[in-house]
Amino acid sequence: IATGDELPAPAVLDRPLRIVHLYPDALNLYGDGGNAMVVERRCAWRGIPAQIDNVHMGDELDLATADIILIGGGADRDQLAVAHELRSRRDELSAYVEDDGVMLAICGSYQLLGRSYYMGDDKIEGLGIIAADTVRGDGRLTGNVAVKTELSSDPFVGFENHGGRTFLDECEHPLGVSTVPGTGNNGKDGLEGCLHRNLIGTYLHGPALSKNPDLADWLIERALERRLSAGDAQAEALLPLSPLNDDRELSARAAAMKL
Ligand code: GLN
Repeated sequence: IATGDELPAPAVLDRPLRIVHLYPDALNLYGDGGNAMVVERRCAWRGIPAQIDNVHMGDELDLATADIILIGGGADRDQLAVAHELRSRRDELSAYVEDDGVMLAICGSYQLLGRSYYMGDDKIEGLGIIAADTVRGDGRLTGNVAVKTELSSDPFVGFENHGGRTFLDECEHPLGVSTVPGTGNNGKDGLEGCLHRNLIGTYLHGPALSKNPDLADWLIERALERRLSAGDAQAEALLPLSPLNDDRELSARAAAMKL
């Protein structure tokens, strides 16, 4: 959609979709904060009422009315601060995820949703919402990644830069398979990310959703379906999502695939 194009009249939804952007003041590497803007815009372009709720460190966090939770990556120290911040909300966050709550966690926050990760030589306890451990390896995994998933016919693309290597337990489903050798969760098993109910953990920065509009729409659709199954009949008219002109997003994806 081009800037200046007219937006459709807002659809009826008594309560706008609440996009909770967690801790943009701590975890916001490589433009991850842009993911919230992408979700909000893709809703607005379809007339779906949606609002971004930026929750900073120390703020009240209302999970009960969250529709989509977005959280980015960051440096080890900031990641640790967020781990401390979320520890007291661990059970509620886990309940949100197990209740099909929609969430996208990038890199450092993906790591801290697992059982453990390392800061230097110190093993840090994660939130244990994903059955995974992140260990240290030699050097960092950096560069452009393309990930083949079951969520779209096209691969998702993004930029990775992490020291930690994430290994999923057998019971966890990866987001997909990295098509670039030596990248992804750990550079070894070829897997990238994690898909746990409606929670996606991934190493894709960029911001990931700007080049992967199908991934953004997957999050929006899951959120509307969850509303519907919770008795919000108004969500039904918004499903399936109306198509948008994604030419620019997809040409950005094609360019990233060539890098
Ligand atoms: N600090 C973590 C690592 O390097 C995560 C970095 C990130 O979010 N890009 O493994």
